[in-house]
Amino acid sequence: MISAADQVPGIMPMPYAYDDTNIFARILRGEIPNKTVLETDHTLAFHDIRPHAPSHVLIIPKGRYVTFDHFAAEGSAEELVDFHRTAAQVCALLGVAPGAGGAGYRTIANAGPDSNQEVPHYHLHILGGRNLGPLLA
Ligand code: AMP
Repeated sequence: MISAADQVPGIMPMPYAYDDTNIFARILRGEIPNKTVLETDHTLAFHDIRPHAPSHVLIIPKGRYVTFDHFAAEGSAEELVDFHRTAAQVCALLGVAPGAGGAGYRTIANAGPDSNQEVPHYHLHILGGRNLGPLLA
């Protein structure tokens, strides 16, 4: 498989070590249940177990990526497109997409200690269903 890191000069592979014991890896292996919203060959979307808004869905790639930058640099074109198309479908399903008359939403991707990332498997939070206030509380 050729990744973007191989194709784009200047983008180096990220020195990330993936921990196969993280909770989202366990969800992907079917060891822990989840409330699935959508699933494709490359992507899983499921409800956050501790929602911070009326709608709070997590989108994860099925591949072993730790953060947004890791996935963006090393994910295949197929994985990257599938991930983002799935995220768009989730926005539509939740009824939050402004282009379809929704009231809006926020995406968050925590990465590393300063962001307080809890789960070291890349995930995109999609939050909506109420006014979300300022960017950072
Ligand atoms: P982060 O701080 O960005 O790493 O967010 C991790 C998120 O994963 C939190 O919002 C948790 O509530 C959520 N989470 C943790 N365990 C589970 C689980 N088993 N099912 C669904 N969401 C989970």
